[in-house]
Amino acid sequence: NASLAEVDPEIADLIQKEKHRQFKGIELIASENFTSKAVMEALGSCLTNKYSEGYPGKRYYGGNEYIDMVESLCQKRALEAFGLNPEEWGVNVQALSGSPANFCVYTALLGPGKKIMGLSLAHGGHLTHGHQSETKKVSASKETGLIDYEALEKAAEEFQPNMIICGASGYPRDFDYVRFRAIADKVGAYLLSDIAHTSGLIASKLLASPFDHSDVVTTTTHKSLRGPRAALIFYRKKYEEAINFAVFPQLQGGPHNNNIAAIAVQLKEVNSEAFRDYSRQVIANARALGLALSEQGEKFITGGTDNHLLMWDMRPHDLTGAKVDKLLDKVHITTNKNSLVGDKSALNPGGVRLGTPAVTTRGMKESEMVVIAGFLLRSVAIAKRIQGQVGKQLKDFLPALENDEEIDQLAK
Ligand code: PLP
Repeated sequence: NASLAEVDPEIADLIQKEKHRQFKGIELIASENFTSKAVMEALGSCLTNKYSEGYPGKRYYGGNEYIDMVESLCQKRALEAFGLNPEEWGVNVQALSGSPANFCVYTALLGPGKKIMGLSLAHGGHLTHGHQSETKKVSASKETGLIDYEALEKAAEEFQPNMIICGASGYPRDFDYVRFRAIADKVGAYLLSDIAHTSGLIASKLLASPFDHSDVVTTTTHKSLRGPRAALIFYRKKYEEAINFAVFPQLQGGPHNNNIAAIAVQLKEVNSEAFRDYSRQVIANARALGLALSEQGEKFITGGTDNHLLMWDMRPHDLTGAKVDKLLDKVHITTNKNSLVGDKSALNPGGVRLGTPAVTTRGMKESEMVVIAGFLLRSVAIAKRIQGQVGKQLKDFLPALENDEEIDQLAK
């Protein structure tokens, strides 16, 4: 019964430090959020002690009567959160996180040798949406960053994917699910919608719903949904057996019951008016932040946002996303570098992704976004000024070199 601080002061101290880091900074990472005390309580509960391989009513271990109820309640709330009819849709709540959830879907519906097609990294896609030769990357239009649906259709016809993935980690606009469905039908592909980033906003009915048009929908539970780190896999009933079998026993063993309980707790909150107000504020804040920065001449992929995130283009400043992200970290503003449409190398991305779910949970509103925009602008201005001065004031030692040959010449 000894406390963590007594048993392991080192880890206790690091947790304390991380807590301070989280609470004293401005958290603008679009995929992060602060979950509630109630969710944390469920996460830290005795449910972590239990093995329950299998599904409610069909377990490989005894003693699962309460675990069955927790899992069934979580499933019921998940379907309710997205207004789904249990006759048509089922949900698997055992996937350990978003990436394994997507691999469970690929395992269930595709198997080896089949082809998937999704948005490329620089155009907003996630790594699990395909990064190999048997995948196809969907193009966004070069000038605006918006998805070019005609190009998507052409690419699908040429590539003949077995599954098209609609969803992103860095796309600031909504998706045309009707169009995605039509293209998938044209080539006989499944349509998987990965709503990891926007599921909270979709549950709050502020963005289009993918359910009418998709075969399977996956989401993480820890981003705009504000729950614990885990994932949900929604499937049309005809895929139930295949999806459940892929999760257990094909790719996972015993479910993490404490996580499932914590998802259920969060889904209860998602089904409330207070959560809808929160989601509305997330979008209002993203727009306010974008507007305050645009008014000062800053550029964004697609020109702004309809959701919770902004893809800020640092290239007009001759700065890299990595530099700005590092600099902001030093002043307790947390963001992440991100590849943008038109970037030559994913290793040196030109963008910084900004998101508002976490600051909105902290209670911030539009006026605070204007203050944050001011901090961001001042930080970038300093980086730019110093970068410029280094070259200018030390020009005899640091000439502006254009290419490898000039550098090699100097090296001699
Ligand atoms: N899908 C999308 C669209 C994501 O943005 C992410 C994570 O950022 C994932 C899947 C993977 O989730 P996880 O990090 O929980 O594996």
